[in-house]
Amino acid sequence: VVRTRFAPSPTGYLHLGGARTALYSWAFARHFGGTFILRIEDTDLERSTPEAVQAIIEGMEWLGLGHDEGPFYQMRRMERYREVVAQMLEAGTAYLCYSSPDEVQTMRERATELGEKPRYDGTWRPDTGKALPPVPAGRKPVVRFKNPQDGDVSWDDVVKGTITISNRELDDLVIARPDGTPTYNFCVAVDDWDMAITHVLRGDDHVNNTPRQINILRAIGAPLPLYGHLPMILNDKGEKLSKRRDAVSVMDYPAKGYLPEALLNYLARLGWSHGNDEVFSMEQFCAWFNLEHLTASAAQFNHEKLNWLNNHYIKLADNARLAALARPFMEDKGAAFDGAPDLAGVLALLKERANTVVELAEAAMLFYRTPEPDPALMAQHLTEAVKPALAQFHERCRTLEWSKEAIAAMLKEVLAANALKMPQMAMPLRLILTGQLQTPAIDAVIQLLGRETVLARLEKSQ
Ligand code: GLU
Repeated sequence: VVRTRFAPSPTGYLHLGGARTALYSWAFARHFGGTFILRIEDTDLERSTPEAVQAIIEGMEWLGLGHDEGPFYQMRRMERYREVVAQMLEAGTAYLCYSSPDEVQTMRERATELGEKPRYDGTWRPDTGKALPPVPAGRKPVVRFKNPQDGDVSWDDVVKGTITISNRELDDLVIARPDGTPTYNFCVAVDDWDMAITHVLRGDDHVNNTPRQINILRAIGAPLPLYGHLPMILNDKGEKLSKRRDAVSVMDYPAKGYLPEALLNYLARLGWSHGNDEVFSMEQFCAWFNLEHLTASAAQFNHEKLNWLNNHYIKLADNARLAALARPFMEDKGAAFDGAPDLAGVLALLKERANTVVELAEAAMLFYRTPEPDPALMAQHLTEAVKPALAQFHERCRTLEWSKEAIAAMLKEVLAANALKMPQMAMPLRLILTGQLQTPAIDAVIQLLGRETVLARLEKSQ
């Protein structure tokens, strides 16, 4: 059975890297009919906020990455961590350390002077045959993990290949602070054990934590999960994603008019491949997803490709859904919907060319505001030669059957009768009816605007 987890620290929004990690963990569980767990790592009290928890959950919901268990909150598991600390002290895999922070600082500096990694020197480590110093009066101890002193920690990373770290490089990690609160790597190890996690996929900023967690898992007798550390995502220019420069929060994407299925498809391919396949549903992704084809090198974010995918999914999307998404953007721009054409029908006409819902909303605005044609343009396009034709067109609109075909046929007849070419009529009509020179096909625009609006605008233009 496969059990994966996504374990964000709620210190900000859900960012793209986190979303991709979540997506892969989710898809891997789905692939095997396993379980995907959401765990909120909120023990950093200074940086964790309830708003961030909410933002992460909101991001996951927007993406549609549902969890099967959780959300679990580490802050609600304190009893359990204390219990494991007590068991480890009992078993001798952890020990009380009374060195003061200043003393530890001195030890670290000394190690650095000797050209070694800064580390705790083991003063309170109860090795056999060693006498421990007297307990300083009134000082509260930390609990340290008794890290093995010899040998290596090694794991076959599913992304990076075999990684080996010498135990000499690893400190006797503090697992509980003087006030008894447990520390980060310890909590992660206990949780992965208790939640029976089989595969840990996470960002490669955690590679340094893995040997520590493996040693703790071994000490408490827990089976080891498989680990896979995903490389980071770079921006278009190959730089580290930055909050200031780049849209890094998942929830920036609905705000910019992206569909979740487009972002998911994009993130799926950003760090994993399936031959030349670029476009696939999440169902297909879950069926295909494997750990063998994760990419080991950093992935570069490509907005053009995301836009292309978004356009693809906009074209596929149900028009009523698009209308619901576009409407708030249009309301912000002061769209008047009363008596205006049905938005879903308008979007159907426009969506072919839109990369985002925001672009779609902008394009649709021409149907939802009173046109104010530029007088200079009007003078240029509404020539004396066109005026009689326009009057005929106006007249025939009163009784015409209101279909695109009938409108197109009537336009043709009027053009022929006045020896005009299509643009000579279409341009002034566009200006009068929409205030713009660029619109979709004029017959479609006329049909969507509806007879009353068309008549009213023609009237006003005279
Ligand atoms: N809480 C960590 C983070 O937000 C992830 C830890 C893990 O996946 O093991 O980066």
